[in-house]
Amino acid sequence: QAEKVQKYFNGGAIKALDGVSAQIQKGEVVVVIGPSGSGKSTFLRCLNLLELPTGGKIFFKGADITNPKADINLYRQKMGMVFQHFNLFPHMTILKNMTLAPTQLLKKSREAAEAQAMTLLERVGLADRASAYPSQLSGGQKQRIAIVRALCMDPEVMLFDEPTSALDPEMVGEVLDVMKELAQDGMTMVVVTHEMGFAREVGSRVLFMDGGQILEENEPKAFFDHPQHPRTQLFLSKVL
Ligand code: ATP
Ligand code: MG
Repeated sequence: QAEKVQKYFNGGAIKALDGVSAQIQKGEVVVVIGPSGSGKSTFLRCLNLLELPTGGKIFFKGADITNPKADINLYRQKMGMVFQHFNLFPHMTILKNMTLAPTQLLKKSREAAEAQAMTLLERVGLADRASAYPSQLSGGQKQRIAIVRALCMDPEVMLFDEPTSALDPEMVGEVLDVMKELAQDGMTMVVVTHEMGFAREVGSRVLFMDGGQILEENEPKAFFDHPQHPRTQLFLSKVL
């Protein structure tokens, strides 16, 4: 739950988030859309405290994680994040990429971490690439790895920041399919994307941001068929 979250940069000259409140329920797939610079990435990064809000509060299962005494690292581990540019460690094999954090941070045994990684790799059809390096994979494969790597930390929420924007068009589908399966398995997800088909089909709710605020939110069908705010209507007329 985000409560009047503000994030200012440059001493307040830039209001990336200007009072954002949102409640995300367990199992929901919340899709965030909006023009460039509207604050979508900043919102995601505040949710898992990659950015510390300037004002307002964020609660995770009722606990105020913006309280200075909160264990930030603990909450970050519960929220997996997938970025536009994969962010895999280039000098490590896929298997090592996936087992590093679980063994070091969660203290899982190597055997258990590798078994879990292999199960997840099988699920996304990449078990045969476990000993490959990231540079040996396609963009779509790298992004599927980035998703299952995040899942190795047993997150309760998954945050996606334009996970398909850097991919060649023919690779977008394979990544969206993995995200769709994750949603169907009941994962709680917040997804910044320009894939309106995904938003409509998989989203439980769509948030439209502009100028650091949520201007409109609705379930996908109503959102796309009957946008209320003029700014939403203009945006959708350009992207649909
Ligand atoms: P895009 O669709 O281009 O990714 P966005 O909606 O994700 O855009 P943000 O990256 O959240 O937008 O940025 C919101 C505003 O905050 C922009 O004006 C941006 O320039 C500014 N901003 C973001 N991060 C910083 C930073 N670290 N320092 C200064 N300004 C920042
Ligand atoms: Mg962004």
